[in-house]
Amino acid sequence: MPTEELQQDAERYLMATYARQPISIVRGRGSRVYDMEGREYIDFVAGIAVNVLGHAHPDLTLAIQKQAQHLLHASNLYYTEPQVKLAQALVDHSFADKVFFCNSGAEANEAAIKLARRYSFEKYGPGRHDIITMRNSFHGRTLATLTATGQEKVQKGFDPLVPGFSYVAFNDLAEAEKAITAKTAAVMLEPIQAEGGVHVADRTYLKGLRELCRQRDVLLIFDEVQTGMGRTGTLFAYEQFGVEPDIMTLAKGLGGGVPIGACLARAQVAEVFTPGTHASTFGGNPLACAAGLAVLRVLLEGRILDHARRMGDYLAKGLAECKDRHRVVKEVRGLGLLQGMELAIDGQQIVMDCLARGLLINCTMERILRFIPPLIITQREIDRLLDALSQILNKRA
Ligand code: PLP
Repeated sequence: MPTEELQQDAERYLMATYARQPISIVRGRGSRVYDMEGREYIDFVAGIAVNVLGHAHPDLTLAIQKQAQHLLHASNLYYTEPQVKLAQALVDHSFADKVFFCNSGAEANEAAIKLARRYSFEKYGPGRHDIITMRNSFHGRTLATLTATGQEKVQKGFDPLVPGFSYVAFNDLAEAEKAITAKTAAVMLEPIQAEGGVHVADRTYLKGLRELCRQRDVLLIFDEVQTGMGRTGTLFAYEQFGVEPDIMTLAKGLGGGVPIGACLARAQVAEVFTPGTHASTFGGNPLACAAGLAVLRVLLEGRILDHARRMGDYLAKGLAECKDRHRVVKEVRGLGLLQGMELAIDGQQIVMDCLARGLLINCTMERILRFIPPLIITQREIDRLLDALSQILNKRA
């Protein structure tokens, strides 16, 4: 079916929740994807920070094939080995002691919010249930997670929102300190606000927040849905700040493209989730967990994290040079392979110009170009992006 016909059918049959670009992707390999007409694109979006190993990675493909031959799904009424093994691998490589599996980032954050409230309830009784989140954050589109999301445009028209959420400025420790009350159960934030325009937390801020939460016995939740699984050059972003949360959420890169989410926690927090307190039919199913295990093994054994760090530095340097040459570029910021370029102009046209040159990039918050390629992206592919950006921005300056 040609792209135009597909586009018409999509408009007819799909709810219009997405503003899609005019290509249809049919296959991918490594950092490249191909459209229906066979055109090749270098993928600096990676399914919005999902395809950490790129497309059609042989280890991931094999793991999925093998698992599909044996068992796709069995329900959490029973034990399945891939789920336990993936939980063990995540525990072995993080601050956490226990894992709850689900299917998406929003669902992982729902679990984190429920876990924090239940912990507070068990320890202090009813009423201590408030969650403080950050303005400009993004935590998902379910009712609780869009309430947690500190952006009016995400919440508009969905009242009444979930009670018990309040918002403070990101990177402002004094405001967080003032906002914590006797009713606060948790503070929740992304170490790097990604959808919100790629804003990196200050190290001293996160350290201060950790200490504040410890003093007030308030749980610290890191949403690493986008920053986790090697995106910033370490398995989890928190490692680079020298600050450990009490609860962390993952999704996106965890299954390398197979939907899976996870909520990780310290033992004394996790223990308040007992049978009947939380559940998910598909959560941690064998197929998704086999994929997650394959992703984790490749990340840990394949030197990909080193590579991602080096490529992140290379990309950041190239983008910074671009900023020096083009006045429309206001700022470049990020960590590892999560980089943002803030423009003085609307970014959507730049996205389209890149598309025409065979490059997929993303724009968030109207003016911030976001680069989140597979972690296997090469220097030559980054050079192709930087050359194209230079040419495109030359015409705008
Ligand atoms: N949290 C963060 C930091 C995200 O970036 C996202 C999605 O972009 C989510 C949560 C929501 O994840 P999902 O779309 O899988 O529900």
